[in-house]
Amino acid sequence: MNFYHCFGHAVTAWPSRTALYTGQRPHATFASLDTRARRLAAGLARLRLARGDRVAIMMGNRCEYTEIMLACWAAGLCIVPINAKLHPREFAFVIENSGAKACFTTSSLAADLAAGLSGSASRCELVCCDLPDYALLFAPEPMAVVDADFTDCAWLFYTSGTTGRPKGATITHRNLWFMSLGYIADAGPIDTRTHALMVAPQSHAAVLLLVAYLTRGAACVVPESGGFDPAEMIPLINRFGGARFFAAPTMVKRFVESPEIGTLEVPRLDTIVYGGGPMYVSDTRRALDTLGPRLWQIYGQGETPCTISYLSRELHAASDHPRFLERLASVGMARTGIALRVVDEEFRPLPPGEVGEIIVRGETVMRGYWDNPQASAQALHDGWLKTGDLGFLDREGLLTLKDRSKDLIISGGSNIYPREVEELLQSHPGVREVAVIGVPHAEWGEEPVAYVVMHDGHAPDATALEQVCLDNMARFKRPKRYVFVAELPKNNYGKILKTELRAWATQAGDTLA
Ligand code: AMP
Repeated sequence: MNFYHCFGHAVTAWPSRTALYTGQRPHATFASLDTRARRLAAGLARLRLARGDRVAIMMGNRCEYTEIMLACWAAGLCIVPINAKLHPREFAFVIENSGAKACFTTSSLAADLAAGLSGSASRCELVCCDLPDYALLFAPEPMAVVDADFTDCAWLFYTSGTTGRPKGATITHRNLWFMSLGYIADAGPIDTRTHALMVAPQSHAAVLLLVAYLTRGAACVVPESGGFDPAEMIPLINRFGGARFFAAPTMVKRFVESPEIGTLEVPRLDTIVYGGGPMYVSDTRRALDTLGPRLWQIYGQGETPCTISYLSRELHAASDHPRFLERLASVGMARTGIALRVVDEEFRPLPPGEVGEIIVRGETVMRGYWDNPQASAQALHDGWLKTGDLGFLDREGLLTLKDRSKDLIISGGSNIYPREVEELLQSHPGVREVAVIGVPHAEWGEEPVAYVVMHDGHAPDATALEQVCLDNMARFKRPKRYVFVAELPKNNYGKILKTELRAWATQAGDTLA
């Protein structure tokens, strides 16, 4: 069954309600969005696109993004979302590897895209949705939604490619249906009073939750700037109410610390859905103090989009529970429909408290990697997806992540989990942000190095940070060096890029003797 129908039900139920807003301005009703999407779907034949073909989208957030996504699904095409900030070499690889025949973009990006693709064998037609040609693509009559197979690819999501080339996680219509249904089941009531703000890049998997919102008759609001700016978001939240948005942990922090936060009418904010990277307990507590229990944590990855585990609003609220802080440090319980295990290297389930690799099974798990049977065989084992994340389960069934297996530091044969060290350093009042990585060491294999951003008005003080570690943690885990920087490298939704930090360390010749 085509994933488009997930949205189609809402069109029948609420045809004249506004489905999309640009800022405070209504952009489309459910009925007009449906008609435009299916007229565009019919027009895509002019680009010689046929069912199963891939279509890239590379642009910032805007309402047309949603229209194009829906049109592609209606026509039985597979979407390849591309982060608008990728380097030309990177987006050219994604377009070539996916075989995308067309790419929807905006005029501000088109020249770079064309230049990036000039040396490539790919014959990808560029369409700018902010130029008159776009309107010409719309056929006079909407087409009937293609009867796609559940196993057809609907979303080809390229992972960040931290080791080697990016890989395309093949997400099917079935995966998207179960992702949406699971979100509706677990994320608390979504209804016609809900307004979802699209503030994380729409190229990120979290955009897929948009369909779950539309399914329940909720409206989606794209800020005029298309980006994440608390000064712009807060008036929108106050105006619409029932507001929800997805944010990476660094964005939650920015939101809570923004100078405008005092103007937020807190009850108008329904929920911040956060995830995509670790949120430190000190930051979660600060957000809870400011916003009340309006937080819902999500743990997922491109290979099972947005769907592995969650920490509910209730658990965020239960501050009198004896294990409140441990619970906050966890990523919560398995999502509805997801089987989750922590296993050793032989795939044997480990008892509560023991750290191993997290593996998951369920209807949201990808079909495999696009055109890469070797990587698929490595990631999928007997129906289970190996997440590459390390963690442990507790007796309540709550999962705590330690780190990505590739971020784990092994020093002198002992495991150091950077997250644990970061969590501790973050508790120092002068520390704004911190990331710990392993750098090669001649004798110990690896040694931890901390990259630290201090709050304004706090001077860098490695001795004080060293003392925090010595007072609270085994000696061998403490960073052997502190590098104070103005900013940490982040991707376009605010996730700290440890690969980049490792590259900084390599460039600086950071092999500790
Ligand atoms: P991506 O596929 O780029 O979304 O990255 C997925 C990875 O981000 C996961 O495998 C985890 O390592 C990390 N991640 C996602 N959600 C969380 C979370 N709530 N807490 C900590 N790490 C997370």
